[in-house]
Amino acid sequence: MANEFDLIQTYFQPLSDGLSESELGIGDDGAVLNAPLNKQLVVVTDTMVSGVHFPEETAAYDIGWKALAVNLSDLAAMGAKPAFFSLALTLPEADETWLAEFTQGLADLARQQQVPLIGGDTTKGPLSITVTAQGWVGEGQAVQRSGAKENDLICVTNTIGDAALGLKFALNQKEHEADISKPEFSEREIISFIQALNCPQPQNAFAGLLCQFASSAIDISDGLVADVGHILERSNQQLDAIDTQASISAQIDLEKIPLSEGMQNYLQVAQNWSPILHGGDDYELCFTLTDEAYPLFKLAAEQAGLSFAVIGKMVAGKGEVILRKQGEKLDDLYQSKQQLSDDEHASTSAGYLHFK
Ligand code: ADP
Ligand code: MG
Repeated sequence: MANEFDLIQTYFQPLSDGLSESELGIGDDGAVLNAPLNKQLVVVTDTMVSGVHFPEETAAYDIGWKALAVNLSDLAAMGAKPAFFSLALTLPEADETWLAEFTQGLADLARQQQVPLIGGDTTKGPLSITVTAQGWVGEGQAVQRSGAKENDLICVTNTIGDAALGLKFALNQKEHEADISKPEFSEREIISFIQALNCPQPQNAFAGLLCQFASSAIDISDGLVADVGHILERSNQQLDAIDTQASISAQIDLEKIPLSEGMQNYLQVAQNWSPILHGGDDYELCFTLTDEAYPLFKLAAEQAGLSFAVIGKMVAGKGEVILRKQGEKLDDLYQSKQQLSDDEHASTSAGYLHFK
């Protein structure tokens, strides 16, 4: 069996393409990287543990892709352009078939986003993957959770909720069968739900636009309602410091939330908004825009071929997420997580097994 050095040479070294001649990546005690002038470094890290953040039977390719994707998604939410990443990998054994597939998933996304692997650590133990990624943002331009204000529009990218359905299918739990085993779901739809869960596309294409126009941003990993809640929490801390009267709540109109065809189909059958509101794992972006910024953002997004939707707005309030349907405020059913069964709001980003 190959030793650790050979494994690194075979599987990780090829991912280090893209550094300049004066930079140093894998192979030394540390990486040496050039820092551009007038930029700030944004650093993010995320760990995925087998059986906690993904089902044990998840394909190695998907694990590799997702380990990087969730980090690039954090960079996108900050408005940063990905620069490089490192990988701390704990493996039960040096299974080369697994490693080849794992690094293929990692490499496909790394090449798509042109982000080189600059180093890491390889250890023996229960399967766990930690990626740390770095990105650059113009000085003072990083987008934070804390900038939302009254009247700002709340927006999301692409569509919401498919990953949560993917988790239902992937776990294939008995109690889920009632709402996911209907013949209405085509093979193609099921595959696309599971793809949304396992190979999320980080929305880095939006990063530049967020820096220019957004008042706040977050990526949707815990679920739409929870993550809008995080924007409220941080923004209200900021607003309270200036004026305790200025605090905000988020008002979201359910019919404005963009849904894939498969999700619309599911909603018809199951009448269950939970995957959309509390599902998590989508790695879409949620952000706020002032009225003035909205038309500029919209134009720029259209020109770039990027899809987003306004789903509501910030109103004066005490930090609640207010859900409305056809303009009517809904009762607390959707808002109170306690009233939902545990699995309904489990997201793998928090570790879905924790909810069992
Ligand atoms: P050290 O003993 O100095 O920590 P290692 O023997 O752990 O170095 O690693 C040797 C080189 O291989 C280092 O440059 C390290 O960054 C790189 N490396 C080790 N594991 C990985 C990995 N999983 N992914 C990428 N690079 C790695
Ligand atoms: Mg060393």
